[in-house]
Amino acid sequence: MAAQLIFLGAPGSGKGTQANKLVEATSYSHISTGDLLREEIGKGTELGNRVKSIMDEGKLVDDQTMLELLKANCDLDSKTYIFDGFPRNIEQTEALHSSVLNGIDSKAVYFKINPEVIVERITNRRIAKGSGQIYNLITKPPRVPGKCDISGEDLIQRKDDNEETVRTRLKVFADAIEPVLGFYREKGMLVEIDAGRSSEEVFNTLIEVTK
Ligand code: AMP
Repeated sequence: MAAQLIFLGAPGSGKGTQANKLVEATSYSHISTGDLLREEIGKGTELGNRVKSIMDEGKLVDDQTMLELLKANCDLDSKTYIFDGFPRNIEQTEALHSSVLNGIDSKAVYFKINPEVIVERITNRRIAKGSGQIYNLITKPPRVPGKCDISGEDLIQRKDDNEETVRTRLKVFADAIEPVLGFYREKGMLVEIDAGRSSEEVFNTLIEVTK
């Protein structure tokens, strides 16, 4: 069985886009903690109401909530996952390693990218909620403006995809990522890929990494 993949990278580094592509091309399942939280908000659950303002500000939801949400939504006995958006700090990294994956073969893939590129990428990001497709108004525009190529649904801009929140999210990421990278590097589990290249180039590297 292929290794479980843990995608690490700043918001806008292309993790979500690449995860979608990999799911289409392989038997991987995608689990995105950001998507799980947005679903909870959409359904108006107690958890959703509790995390909404934290997400809108670009801050992190507490580790316990995130770990429970993750555990409740993954089935490691029968699926091979791409973990996207979890772990976000060293505490989550240790919890994922010892209380979720528990010795299951896994690899961490770090999408390395210059933060300057990211603000432009994220503010131009548009998503289709139903199909999960991610567009970029400059590099990957939809064929019909404002509509998803696959489902035809209206594209939306995530509420936290504005410049101010992006800058907060980048800072939150930069403050927490080094120990996470160190953890995986020390265990020989880390693969770093240059995520500043085109989506096709990044995907080709990713396919090699997952072999
Ligand atoms: P994302 O879609 O991964 O960019 O996540 C969007 C927002 O959800 C983040 O800015 C956080 O507020 C929250 N979030 C997602 N994953 C986590 C996590 N592992 N730990 C804490 N907060 C998270």
